[in-house]
Amino acid sequence: MAAAVSAPPANNVGKWSTPLTTLFVLVLPPLGALGALATLVMGRVQGVHIALFLGGFVLTGLGITIGYHRLATHRSFETNPLVKAVLYILGSAAVEGPVVEWVANHMKHHINADREGDPHSPRDGLLHSHWGWLTQFAEIEAEKYASWTLRDPVARAVSATFIIWVALGYVVPFLIAGWEGFLWGGLFRQCAVQNVTFAVNSVCHRWGAQPFNTNDLSRNNWIVGILGLGEGWHNNHHAFPVSAYHGLRWWEFDLSGIVIRVLEAVGLVKNVRRPALGQIQRKLYVPAAVNLYERVAS
Ligand SMILES: [Zn+2]
Ligand SMILES: [Zn+2]
Repeated sequence: MAAAVSAPPANNVGKWSTPLTTLFVLVLPPLGALGALATLVMGRVQGVHIALFLGGFVLTGLGITIGYHRLATHRSFETNPLVKAVLYILGSAAVEGPVVEWVANHMKHHINADREGDPHSPRDGLLHSHWGWLTQFAEIEAEKYASWTLRDPVARAVSATFIIWVALGYVVPFLIAGWEGFLWGGLFRQCAVQNVTFAVNSVCHRWGAQPFNTNDLSRNNWIVGILGLGEGWHNNHHAFPVSAYHGLRWWEFDLSGIVIRVLEAVGLVKNVRRPALGQIQRKLYVPAAVNLYERVAS
């Protein structure tokens, strides 16, 4: 069939090729995490190292969740070019690829969620959905799945300078606190942020509650909800991809959503998208539960 002939080969690598991705994403960060734990055992860890880890985790994590995901991919709010650039730079330092490529892969996931063409569904194996898919990078189809980012000068500029922001993510903690700073604020922090992101792709398509009928395997997982700065409320997200808030009930802690509220309150973001109560009711398996959603709905 013509379609089969024209399809890209399974191992067709993108700009961030398989060996490079494997080296940076699957090998170096876990080694750095082990190194960081070794410094802990040796009694060389101080408050500054923990602060670099936690501060770096939250900042670069929000760069992914608010910048790459809710802004660049789903356009769930609007902001000015400076705030956008800061968010994309922080996201770049999480070392999950340039923003244009991340958006393309993630939109491909939404469009094909848990079906043929999903880059990282656990239907192809839990390990595949967490790490394995990164070693089989299919061609990055930015024109098809992320055309608006290709037209966005900020997304293009930060993507083109990606390697600089990755490097700063190591250099800054090193300059602040030496090699322990490099390990805790650099590699260990990178390992933690990446694996939380990967857990959204793996854990949140396998374990958790599914209040919404989304025709995929997406789940709300409270552990990833907390660790993932709100991204673990993933069934909510698949039900309402353009919602700026993933936590839709009062107990669904969504740090990224809270930060977006604060940025909105001080005038740095506008046109924040949220689902209407009627939309929520239509997608719920138990429509009567809609009264639990009144706080967030528009
Ligand atoms: Zn998903
Ligand atoms: Zn998404």
